[in-house]
Amino acid sequence: KTVVIGGGSGFIGTALSNLLCSCGYDVVIVSRVPGSFRMTWSELEQNGLPKNTAAVVSLAGQNILDMKRRWNSGFEQTVRASRINTTLSLVKAIEKADVKPSVFVSTSGVGYYPPHPSKVYTEHSEGGKGDYFAELCTDWELAAKLPADVGTRQVTIRSGVVLGRRGGMIAQLYLPFFFGMGGPVGSGQQYLPWIHLHDIARLFLYAIEKENVEGVLNGVSPDLITSKEFARAFGGSLWRPALIPLPEFVCNILLGSERARMLTEGQKVTPQRTLELGFEYNYPDIRSACQEFSPLIYTD
Ligand code: NDP
Repeated sequence: KTVVIGGGSGFIGTALSNLLCSCGYDVVIVSRVPGSFRMTWSELEQNGLPKNTAAVVSLAGQNILDMKRRWNSGFEQTVRASRINTTLSLVKAIEKADVKPSVFVSTSGVGYYPPHPSKVYTEHSEGGKGDYFAELCTDWELAAKLPADVGTRQVTIRSGVVLGRRGGMIAQLYLPFFFGMGGPVGSGQQYLPWIHLHDIARLFLYAIEKENVEGVLNGVSPDLITSKEFARAFGGSLWRPALIPLPEFVCNILLGSERARMLTEGQKVTPQRTLELGFEYNYPDIRSACQEFSPLIYTD
């Protein structure tokens, strides 16, 4: 059985591809760059989905926290188009397929829920408006909607910050923390919805394989932690104190204030449906997740 992954060359996509291959699936990545076991977005448009496509996953998106890119309207457009246009292309390919894939799993972010210091958000909570990221997630989720008559099961995973040694936030923070210069962002009181890389990959696989899973799932760990608690756990795994806070104004200067809100403000997000649907986490708490990043026992 073939799984087609838009943006499958990235941080989450690589982990998911490895997991799928180890479970006996064939993986085809849709990418801007041609290569083996890949197709480009224009090849997808021209030739459609490969035969025997059982599942389609949408994971493409310009890295929002790329420090080399200034937060301006041009970059905002790239962030938006790289998610919405790629998702629309996958939807179109599914609609055109003679034999429809049985499931389409699309990605969104916990940014769907506007930052709040205390409100607890589940998949049933209202969100999707109030700031740039909430609106981006709404449009991204809308782009993924298949017409009802297509008959393909549909799942949307709203992912929290993904923690894995070789990418995302941990890769960016590793050196400052390793040299004892790490710490919480701003006051450290804001919540940080997170999930371990292996668990998010397993959750995508769960969504692909379990026929009773559909609709929105929060892709976050059940362990609700603040930025300060994260810094303590991550610093602890490297035997570093992690006491030096990154002031909010520095974040604003480095990232632009709109984008910096992703780090300086947070939201308390629980995976209510994910748990109700029976998903079991390998890394249910921040300590077990961070332990893996210790230079001594790191295995990934
Ligand atoms: P990556 O940054 O690793 O990017 C995924 C892939 O997207 C890349 O490999 C690339 O594929 C493609 N891509 C990048 N920029 C563009 C662009 N401008 N136009 C078209 N395609 C592009 O992402 P992750 O794996 O970390 O995340 C996957 C998805 O999950 C993203 O949409 C992200 O927003 C979302 N997400 C991630 C979180 C995280 O902590 N990592 C948290 C919450 C949501 P190629 O170069 O092959 O074309």
